[in-house]
Amino acid sequence: MPTQQNRSIESTSLRTHLCANLRASDVGSTVTVCGWVARRREHGEHLAFLDVRDYSGIVQCVVDNAVDVRSEWVVQITGKVQPRPDGTVNKNLSTGEIELSDCTITVLNAAEPPPFPIDARADDVDENVRLKYRYLDIRRERMQRNLRIRSKVNSAIRGAMEAQQFVEVETPFLMPSTPEGAREFLVPSRKEPGSFYALPQSPQLWKQLLMVAGIDRYYQIARCLRDEDLRADRQYEFMQLDAEMSFVTKDDVLAAISKAVVAAAEAVLGETPPTIEQITWRDAMNRFGVDKPDMRFGMELVELTAVFSSTEFKAFSSAACIKGIRVDATLYPEQAAYGRNKLDALTDRAKQIGAKGLVWMKVGEGLALDSPVAKFLSDAERASLVSSMGAQNGDLLLLVADEWATTCEVLGTLRNDLARPPVHEGPYKYVWVIDFPLFVGVNATTGKPQPGHHPFCQPHPDDIERLESDPMSVRALAYDLVLNGWELGSGSIRIHDPEMQRRVFRQLGISDEDADKRFGFFLQPFKYGAPPHGGFAFGTDRLVAILAGEENIREVIAFPKTQSGSDPMTNAPTPVNPAQLNELGIRLLPPPAKS
Ligand code: ASP
Repeated sequence: MPTQQNRSIESTSLRTHLCANLRASDVGSTVTVCGWVARRREHGEHLAFLDVRDYSGIVQCVVDNAVDVRSEWVVQITGKVQPRPDGTVNKNLSTGEIELSDCTITVLNAAEPPPFPIDARADDVDENVRLKYRYLDIRRERMQRNLRIRSKVNSAIRGAMEAQQFVEVETPFLMPSTPEGAREFLVPSRKEPGSFYALPQSPQLWKQLLMVAGIDRYYQIARCLRDEDLRADRQYEFMQLDAEMSFVTKDDVLAAISKAVVAAAEAVLGETPPTIEQITWRDAMNRFGVDKPDMRFGMELVELTAVFSSTEFKAFSSAACIKGIRVDATLYPEQAAYGRNKLDALTDRAKQIGAKGLVWMKVGEGLALDSPVAKFLSDAERASLVSSMGAQNGDLLLLVADEWATTCEVLGTLRNDLARPPVHEGPYKYVWVIDFPLFVGVNATTGKPQPGHHPFCQPHPDDIERLESDPMSVRALAYDLVLNGWELGSGSIRIHDPEMQRRVFRQLGISDEDADKRFGFFLQPFKYGAPPHGGFAFGTDRLVAILAGEENIREVIAFPKTQSGSDPMTNAPTPVNPAQLNELGIRLLPPPAKS
């Protein structure tokens, strides 16, 4: 065994090599590997083949078949590297040209048979079972690869941030509730029964205070917690590269964050993504119908309001905005040829999202339009529609006439439903969506506008004068980073003037008094010389998933929760002991009746 001094990085006191790193060039040397028995095959009367696996992969060992080792036993094997006999070379394996012979085996630990095979077959095993035995699931090549990609991404991000003189600062987990918008996880205080900490939905407030504190450039790969329904791209706890910078404009922030994203992509894929495009939120909505546009494919929304400006067709004449998408028969032959049932399903889908209806038209020979509504349109309208949409024989046209936002959203959803490739399929198309609205929608209980992002975003200087008179028209200096239709993260230039912060709070229905009571700890420091600042945060789980070729972030998180928020391995969440509740001054209500 090599000494501590002359040992290669992969060797330890128990092994000389990793299994999958042995090659034909090692033939003749005696080596020691450690790992798990991946497979045992009897070979003739006296011999058995053992595939031994560690995180690097597999090596075949020829052993005496009297030895008692079984699947997933932990072994140390010393043997001589020899070429595999003619005709038995396995081209699919990095070690496929060699095997270990004359082996001596030490059993380091026996194992019970695993509940599922520790290989690709487990991909089809029920996810609850995979998560219950996550430590076995992680033993598999796929999870090993994903977690190692994750580590690479984190390291590349750190490197890029450090190179730009960002300072890593850790921020508290136990903090007061903040107005960032997501539902928070609360932690009861034992010392002050009836009072609660909130777990951070992000380090937003801390990082802004760090700017007041003169840190200038802060970053942290931060754990954030939000009590929101889980999905393929959402977990209760998730990781973000969180950053903040002083004395900057939007372009400085986007440039700094781009460097981290590019470094992560280079580290995993070995290639530099092209310069990240920018699109305004309004253009994204107008062209793609969503604020996280997937730019890998066309089928853009076409503006048709002018085409029907003097139409007699009721559904169109009464609508504020008419747009359409063209399902190109050459690119999407199956969708363009949808029959009545599928078209009805599309119409139902459109109604579900809020449209009054969906108009479909099939383009036939001579660019004639076949549709239940075609007869209500004039010849000129039909001709103008065909030319505006660049329609060709065989295409399917889908039109929505409604309020601007509904028209965009409905067609944006249908566009994605019809043609969006799985998120992890290349090419990787990053895009910055800039100039988000400061407010979106109205809070059902307060009747007040809701923040588009969070209440600390600086209103766009060109729109500030309308903050009180027409708040919904005000843009924010806020931006998102989108990759293949997934929102990776968001950021903004922040309000650094306490008076402006109060004006925004007032719009949200938070009075000056309320603001002082709830967020005084945050507002007060801004009186002591807050520099102009801005920042960003992007979800590393989502980035890693896409770079690893996974469609679900659970595949790149070591110990995720299931879709219903539980952990089948530890059974969390679990009831607690009544004594613990007493100590916290908590009495439980009967569980709500199941609906
Ligand atoms: N705190 C924000 C978020 O987590 C990001 C930011 O504005 O920097 O979405």
